[in-house]
Amino acid sequence: MNDIKVIVEKCVGCGLCIKACPYVAISLVDKKAVINEKCTLCGACVDACKRYQAIVITRTTFSGQKVAAYSGIAVLAEHRHDRLSSIVPEIIGAAKVLQKTLNKKLSAILVGKNVKHMAGEIISYGVDEVWMIDNPKIDDFAEDVHASLVTDILLEKKPEIFLGGGTVMGRSLLPRVAARLLTGLTADCTELEMDPEAMILKQTRPAFGGNIMATILCKNHRPQMATVRHKVMKPAKKADDGHEGKIVEMDYIDIPDSQVEVLEFVKEDTNTVNIADADFIVSGGRGLRDPKNFKLIEELAQALGGAVGASRAAVDADWIPYSHQVGQTGKTVNPKIYIACGISGAIQHLAGMKSSDIIIAINNDPNAPIFDVAHYGIVGDLFEVVPELVKQIKGK
Ligand SMILES: Cc1cc2nc3c(=O)[nH]c(=O)nc-3n(C[C@H](O)[C@H](O)[C@H](O)COP(=O)(O)OP(=O)(O)OC[C@H]3O[C@@H](n4cnc5c(N)ncnc54)[C@H](O)[C@@H]3O)c2cc1C
Repeated sequence: MNDIKVIVEKCVGCGLCIKACPYVAISLVDKKAVINEKCTLCGACVDACKRYQAIVITRTTFSGQKVAAYSGIAVLAEHRHDRLSSIVPEIIGAAKVLQKTLNKKLSAILVGKNVKHMAGEIISYGVDEVWMIDNPKIDDFAEDVHASLVTDILLEKKPEIFLGGGTVMGRSLLPRVAARLLTGLTADCTELEMDPEAMILKQTRPAFGGNIMATILCKNHRPQMATVRHKVMKPAKKADDGHEGKIVEMDYIDIPDSQVEVLEFVKEDTNTVNIADADFIVSGGRGLRDPKNFKLIEELAQALGGAVGASRAAVDADWIPYSHQVGQTGKTVNPKIYIACGISGAIQHLAGMKSSDIIIAINNDPNAPIFDVAHYGIVGDLFEVVPELVKQIKGK
């Protein structure tokens, strides 16, 4: 159990701990510090009380197991409809960068029904072992079952790092696993790095509305868990050096019954390409003024063979479904060409598209911040510029 204690004999009632506590969890009673239930064990008071050493935190690791008992990196091999998700090579790519410093085995967890055929592809990305449970009882959408099985595998194999995708599945599954393992989880990381001295994973993600980057460490619990934002990490390439890996079948693990019944799977009705995988994206914002004007954006996207994106303002106004939203709380995209139409370029929008190879902005305000990141800018009325572009492209 983790615990915090005030050593009453050492406390001088100076109040430095009260000032240091960001959670208002300390007060003075009879000139002695008293800690209440708001305490999160962040340790700020311990640092503030270095001189008197009157506050002590005791931390124990999960199940009393030593951090040193954990070794190597594991990734979640997410899949849907019989195919590996496109984020898998990205997670493996990130893990391989960490592996260079850590110099330990890289494994993948593959759980589901009829999944064995994906194991070879996973290994081809340079993975050493695939820990697999392939069982007809495991439904794709039974996340409670997946969470239980992934937890069991991690308990047995004990990797020191476990990474998943910042996808709908990863965001639902990994928190369940982290809670079961009593470890931490950093969601939606945009950067992962090993501290070469402490050999701890530095997990970086945007915080406070994208205004700062926070680096988070999980010092006392294992595995160190993170989800990785889509389209941010460089995907691993398939190895052409005859890399050999091993499939470890773990079908002796019991498959629990699911509490979830999937009644129906409804595929989103869209006649354009998924933005996360598109090479060309045309996005519309509040400058479109009306939902029906998204037709202009669709025409340009179709002329280019690309996908339709949107700013959050357009999504919040119900002009287009959330799955099209680009940005910090939407999708991160990395197309060859990104065309922003009537989008101002708020920091939260830029967070999702600024790594595009070429950015073209169409905006009637020459001072719009989108022009700061655009490689090409067209200052003008989108209702004139976009139809002209469609005409020119179709005319070719
Ligand atoms: C925590 C948080 C998370 C967020 N996450 C996201 C996110 O994921 N994605 C996102 O996009 N936003 C996000 N936002 C919102 C973001 O801050 C902006 O409010 C939003 O991006 C603005 O959308 P917009 O550019 O379409 O609208 P506006 O800022 O209103 O810009 C409209 C632009 O259209 C131009 N315009 C108007 N008429 C024309 C015309 N006829 N021709 C050409 N140009 C024209 C205007 O000059 C203006 O620049 C988030 C905000 C917060 C606080």
